[in-house]
Amino acid sequence: MSNAITISEVGPRDGLQSIDQIMPLAAKKAWIAAEAAAGVSEIEVGSFVPPSLLPQMADTAEVVAFAKTIPDLDVAVLVPNFKGAERAIAAGADKISIPFSMSETHSLNNLRKTHEQMIEEIKAVADLVARQPEASRPYFEVGLSTAFGCTMEGPIATEQIVRLAEQSIAAGAQELCLSDTTGYANPAQVRDLVKRVKSAVGDDKLNSLHLHNTRGLGLANVVAGLEVGITTFDASLCGLGGCPFAPGASGNIVTEDLVFMLSAMGVETGIDLDALLQTRTILAEALPGEPLYGFTADAGVPLGFESTQNLKAHG
Ligand code: ZN
Repeated sequence: MSNAITISEVGPRDGLQSIDQIMPLAAKKAWIAAEAAAGVSEIEVGSFVPPSLLPQMADTAEVVAFAKTIPDLDVAVLVPNFKGAERAIAAGADKISIPFSMSETHSLNNLRKTHEQMIEEIKAVADLVARQPEASRPYFEVGLSTAFGCTMEGPIATEQIVRLAEQSIAAGAQELCLSDTTGYANPAQVRDLVKRVKSAVGDDKLNSLHLHNTRGLGLANVVAGLEVGITTFDASLCGLGGCPFAPGASGNIVTEDLVFMLSAMGVETGIDLDALLQTRTILAEALPGEPLYGFTADAGVPLGFESTQNLKAHG
């Protein structure tokens, strides 16, 4: 069964790394299992960064091991570098994603690497991935972060993004994702940049968008992405995460609102919205006091809305 659109839940990584509370391992497992049961087919379950930097992610290897026991779930992780990729492969991740900041200032601040050094790192990770036995070889994606603007540099030139995208593919990335790390993107910009990058690297090499809802444009940006052939959208349950620069703003786009919108538009996601909404209680209980976002959860689904219409359509 294949769905028109894949929703990749990134809350266990992007959401949890952005808040101070550390979610207990048991709660992470319950969250991942519940979302998978609701029909979510890909979950970014953590990142392999040094625990001294992100104690929230210290148990990622155990989370991966658990998630791998769930049938048909694609288990994704983020890695900052080669060393992280080695740990991700040892843990058995299905997909590894390395963030590559289109802003060199951000890259130097965040990962202490120039663009040239990052391309070398991507090459090294691609070679490592290629050396793995086919049965256990992960899928390797490069996430072009700060692609829609940087808090330190402001707008990033499209020509620069296109060049770095081409270099990433040449270095061995199987696929790219455009990331609105800062929540700066608008729908016109999404349409334009997706088209430009797709035409440079090949239509099949860019299928994913990683969006934040910092300025309330997250779902508008999804619609723009749909119009230009994007088929995978990252989202976070309860919009977990927030933004250090915008108090009160949510983090990633809210998975529940995204599923509601796509289902209402008749776009196949394979996710049962009622079951998904119920998984919010896991976060509410495990992260006391943490702001949880979501218009659909607050307002309820509209009268007559059939949350399992997608599943029924598939039989
Ligand atoms: Zn993000």
